[in-house]
Amino acid sequence: MARVVVVGSLNVDLHLLLRRHILPGETLIASGGTFSPGGKGANQACAAALAGADVTMCGAVGDDSSAPVATTLLAEAGVDLTHVRRLSGATGLAVVSVDAEGENTVVVVPGANAAVTPGVVRGWEPVIGAADVVVLQGEIPATSDLEVVGCGPRRLILNLAPVIDVAPQLLLAADPLVVNEHEGAAALSQLGGPDVTEPADVVAGLRAAGVASVVMTLGAAGALVAWSGGTVSVPSPRVRPVDTVGAGDAFCGALAARVADGDSLEVAAAFAARFAAYTVQFEGAQASYPAPGTALPD
Ligand code: ADP
Repeated sequence: MARVVVVGSLNVDLHLLLRRHILPGETLIASGGTFSPGGKGANQACAAALAGADVTMCGAVGDDSSAPVATTLLAEAGVDLTHVRRLSGATGLAVVSVDAEGENTVVVVPGANAAVTPGVVRGWEPVIGAADVVVLQGEIPATSDLEVVGCGPRRLILNLAPVIDVAPQLLLAADPLVVNEHEGAAALSQLGGPDVTEPADVVAGLRAAGVASVVMTLGAAGALVAWSGGTVSVPSPRVRPVDTVGAGDAFCGALAARVADGDSLEVAAAFAARFAAYTVQFEGAQASYPAPGTALPD
């Protein structure tokens, strides 16, 4: 079984269903509010496990009542949680508001994720070194993400989400760098590239700047995949979207599982697009991910 290690965040999401987004000074009544497991790292670990990989999560939760919530679905998906540290203080929290159009806003309180320091990452060096693929995002300190590179991963997938300022060295270690349109433009600017916005131009710019491979997710339009062999567009199946929270994470996790198993980037991205498209049909992040064996849309 392909081994994937995710170094990243674990959160609890407070998922609010609103008619419309709130304005400054207002009080709104939500039509629903639920606590569910989230955090980009945890979401991607959950997706990778459900997509068939042997997954280890490296991260931290607090010692509050949210901590067990943050890991419930990871445990159910069979993710190894022995390297998730329990620190004193609060577990990461994300307040996710979704309006009637399915548009979402997210406010993140890092909590224990901020305490994943480079020193903590160093402690995971043997686990990181033994993985086929290591996956990173932007919800732990940038210096800690960079420390992972120093731990000698065989292959690194970096999802620059949310955008944080990272060392060019980290962007250049990614294979692939996974970004949406906005994140791709930000990554290119961090590498001193041209100020372009067209997806194809951003992807070409990232490759020209020295990034080994790039996957740019484009919502319902699927993804652009670029590597030394060329650039291809991977379509997403047509589905009726209900809630896109965690879709990018589902994509990354599924991509990591397939890349770790030896698939080409193009084949892995095509699978990831089907896996992610499934999830947008249901509410929530990890709660919307398909159990192994579920028929995915084509
Ligand atoms: P992010 O949320 O990180 O910006 P995207 O919106 O690009 O990520 O979505 C990630 C992936 O989820 C897409 O590449 C696609 O496969 C799938 N996806 C997202 N929205 C839709 C949609 N409306 N219909 C079908 N697939 C979708």
